[in-house]
Amino acid sequence: MISRAVEELMLENKSSMIIPAENVANVMSGNPLEHAFLVLSKAGYSKIPVLDKGDHFVGLLSLNDVVNKMLEIDGIDTTNLSEFSVADVMDTDVAIVREGCELEDLLHLLVDAPFLPVLDEHNIFKGIVTRREILKAVNRTFHELDKKRVPTEKLVFPAGLAK
Ligand code: AMP
Repeated sequence: MISRAVEELMLENKSSMIIPAENVANVMSGNPLEHAFLVLSKAGYSKIPVLDKGDHFVGLLSLNDVVNKMLEIDGIDTTNLSEFSVADVMDTDVAIVREGCELEDLLHLLVDAPFLPVLDEHNIFKGIVTRREILKAVNRTFHELDKKRVPTEKLVFPAGLAK
């Protein structure tokens, strides 16, 4: 369990821990794969959120999903990119978090995912939390703890790990 002092310090930086929806590259579930391929390539990310027309989060699309649709036994067939849509290949079995979720739950989920979509109670996409932003917040928190001289016995690694 995360100590109260650490959690409070981490949450002081809450606003910078989430990348808001307007700054997150995304594709629409009805977009042809051709368009999604372009967005993924231009954005420079290997995986981005998929939204429906009402801004609900519906899944994640990876460059791998798109490329796999082009691969044939005897080569690459790009015609599939105009025949299939994002909804045909996206991953819908995705871990998400709700606005105001527990920090501890967020950290557990980020062990297995490089980023997590943040949704409101109506599944409207609000943004993402990335491992990178969380690690930056952890770093800031440790420095703050040091400045405030908050007892950090609980944060010291077990002796065996420090060797
Ligand atoms: P990072 O921790 O910054 O390397 O981001 C981890 C992953 O989160 C990236 O590989 C992308 O899949 C996703 N991501 C981060 N920032 C954005 C963004 N602005 N738009 C879309 N996806 C993003």
